[in-house]
Formats: sequence, structure tokens, C-alpha cells
Amino acid sequence: MIYLDNCATTKVYKEAMEAAINAFEVTYANPSSIHKAGFLLRNNFEEARECIKKFLNIKSGEIIFTSCASEANNIIVNSIKDIKKKKILTTAVEHQAMNKPIDNLVVGGFEVIKIHPKDGQITLEDVLENLDDSFGFVSLMHVNNEVGSIIDVENIAREVKKLYPDIIFATDAVQAFGKLRIDLSEGNIDFLSMSGHKVHAPKGIGCLYARDVNLVKPLIYGGEQEFSLRAGTENVPGVLALAEAVKILDKNLEDNYKYVNNLKNKMIESLKELDGVNVHSEGEVYSPYVLSVAFDNIKAEVLVHILEQEEVYISTSSACSSKQKKHMRVLEGYGYSEKEAEETVRISFSEMNTEEEVLKAAELIKKAVKFIRSVKKWWWIKCI
Ligand code: PLP
Repeated sequence: MIYLDNCATTKVYKEAMEAAINAFEVTYANPSSIHKAGFLLRNNFEEARECIKKFLNIKSGEIIFTSCASEANNIIVNSIKDIKKKKILTTAVEHQAMNKPIDNLVVGGFEVIKIHPKDGQITLEDVLENLDDSFGFVSLMHVNNEVGSIIDVENIAREVKKLYPDIIFATDAVQAFGKLRIDLSEGNIDFLSMSGHKVHAPKGIGCLYARDVNLVKPLIYGGEQEFSLRAGTENVPGVLALAEAVKILDKNLEDNYKYVNNLKNKMIESLKELDGVNVHSEGEVYSPYVLSVAFDNIKAEVLVHILEQEEVYISTSSACSSKQKKHMRVLEGYGYSEKEAEETVRISFSEMNTEEEVLKAAELIKKAVKFIRSVKKWWWIKCI
């Protein structure tokens, strides 16, 4: 199999898997238990939290473990529902896990302004142009999951806080975490969400960063786990596995970035040998991990299904929305027509992919595109 759908989910690192298995088989106590087994595990658990805090260079605030990034995003939005200034600035291209909870606030009297990227980008100027003192909350995704465009959230948060210190600033960093260096030490970002399964840790573990835990309004009440902000027995295997993954990512982040960038460039170079190829995410302002590309007159869905027969896996859009055709919202948010959106596939890389695989996949994609076009031509000739 050639797996090029790494924005949807990733293969778990062996080290992360071993950490999880150990927590299932050996250190399976409840970290809240007062006996020695629980106490020892609590130490490991808190070390894992520290590891993630160190990775993000957190000087103030906490990491709260959740089940996934969707949960973390929902906690963020729940936490701002009682703020006084009921205007929200966000993007038109957020993942549904942020977009939907924000939209739900409209019935509660919020006004939501969504910035549309220009030429794929959202800049500081775009944000400041839309912002004034009546806004209470800004939420900008760090890296878009369908197109890969990067928003410079650290710089934008810094400038926004200089002008409007009371604004609560959040970022969905799911597709940036572990791929771009994130530094939260300046304390301008109030909330950040991330997900384990996008970075070679298992599914079922996510994190919410809160600069000030007093800002957090929980969604799940019950026990006192996670500073009483997220009740429920901790997902110890998930947390320990995530910490192992983070240690590996921390060591290799810059090398991985260069390596994956080369894979993406090789794929683009090869695909451009075809006519009618429109690359949406080329250049430094896009994540090397995501390639969004459209082939004229090819339905992306058909291409995905032809490739799966060769065991090559790419996607039409984000996995969460591909079944509902909701990816149109994001691509149309970028200014693509419905036809262009229907022709768009997402090819997403990880450092586990090899150059050989990428070149082979590129050949198979070109072959499939030529095949679909020839069938369409034949069908058209037959019909006249
Ligand atoms: N935010 C972004 C940008 C994503 O890409 C995803 C998943 O694709 C999510 C949020 C949701 O993540 P999770 O699966 O951990 O809920």
C-alpha cells in the first residue's frame, strides 16, 4: 500500500505503540488510585504532560488531555459562550470541528465574521482590517487541512493582543502540531487544540492548551481529573503514546519538514507533466505535508476509487467531510468554483513515505487521469 492520506490519520510510531501496549499490559492501574501502582503511573502521566508542554515551550497555562481535537475545539468554544463582547472573527475555511461549534453560537446572539483567504492566504492585515474593539474572540486555524495554507498565528496573536489585550485568541493547530515549530512562550495564544492520531500517536487522544485554566468551561463534569476541567478516567495508554511520539517529533521536526517538502516537490514535478493540472498549494506559504491539486475534467471521487484498486490512498478532502461533500465549503471558501472543488484531490504526506513510493504514486495518478479522460472522450464520441 502507498498511503498518502496522512492528514486524515497517520501510522502509529513503533515507540508510541510500545508505550501504549506497556500501559495496557503492565502499568494498567488508574493514575488517580492512591496505592503505589496508581501513584507511580501518575508520575509517568505527569511527565508526559510536561513533555508536551516543553515541546510547545509553554511558560504559563496547562495541557488538558481530551479524546480528540474535536473535543478540544468544542471546549474552547464552550469556554467563550458567556463573554461580553459577542463578536467572533474566524476563517471561512476552518475544520468543521471549529466551524460548527462557532456557528452554533449564533443562536445565542453572537455575530460571526469569517475571513476568506485571498490567493490562498490570510494575513495579519486581513485580520486587523476586520477587527475592532467590539470583538471578544478570534479563532484562526494554523494550517488548513484541505489546502495546507499556513496562517502565521503566533505573529497575528502578538499583534492582535497589542491592540486588543482582552480578546481571547484560539488556534486549531491539528495540522501544524509536530510539523511546524510552535512556541507558546509569549502567552498571546489563549487556546490551542491538537490531535494525537495526526502525528503517529493512536486515535482517541487529543490536547487542549489553555493559557489560563480559569478561562476553561468544561463540557464533561464528574471526577476531578484534568484539573476538574475534563472528568473521566484518563486515557493513560494514549497519553503515554503521545508523549513518545512527541519526543520523536521534537528531535526530527526540521529534518522531517525538509524531507517531506522534497516528497511534495517531486510529486508536483511529476504531476505537472500532464496537461490540465492545477496545483493549489505550492510554495513556502503552504505546508509541505499537504498537496491540493485539481485535474481538469476529472471527478476527484472517481480518481480516488481507481487509485484504491492499485492500493494507493489519497482523498477527495478531509476524511470527516468527504462523505457529506462538505469539503465544498472549504474549497469554495478559498474561492474555487464547485467544478474546481469536485476536481480537487488531497495528497498528504508523512516522513514515513519514501521518494520511491511518491514517484510510483505519481505515475499511477497520471495513468488513472489519462484513463478517465480517454473513457470520457470515447463515451462522448459514442454519443454523437
Ligand atoms: N481540526 C483539523 C484542522 C483537522 O484536520 C481535524 C481532523 O482532520 C480536526 C480538527 C479533528 O481532529 P480529531 O479527529 O482529533 O477530532
